[in-house]
Amino acid sequence: MAQVKLTKKEVDDLRARLLEERGELQDQLTTIEDTSFSTTQSDLSGDVGLDDESADAGTATFEREKDLSIEQNVRDLLQKIDRALTRIDAGTYGVCDRCGKPIEKARVKALPYVDLCIKDARAQSRR
Ligand SMILES: [Zn+2]
Repeated sequence: MAQVKLTKKEVDDLRARLLEERGELQDQLTTIEDTSFSTTQSDLSGDVGLDDESADAGTATFEREKDLSIEQNVRDLLQKIDRALTRIDAGTYGVCDRCGKPIEKARVKALPYVDLCIKDARAQSRR
């Protein structure tokens, strides 16, 4: 695959996509935080109201753990996007973090926040 530097137009398009995705992820994070906050609040109050709700305690814990792992993924992705935006500003966007060569264009367009070329990403996932 050709390793060609991204044009300014391409970088601008990718920046717009990154910003859009960042906004969506932040919305998602706010939703997750709101949800876990209200769950915690009702647990603390002890005022459950319905007797049969205690049977759902296990499910609630599971739901909360699921939320936490989703939250972790969203935070990881946000960090990657922030790093990519920083690299755009620094003029080092689209360049492999490991070998310093341009990352394959098709790869950057599929995953605008990647910071490794295909070869180095494969090498990393093998470890
Ligand atoms: Zn590389």
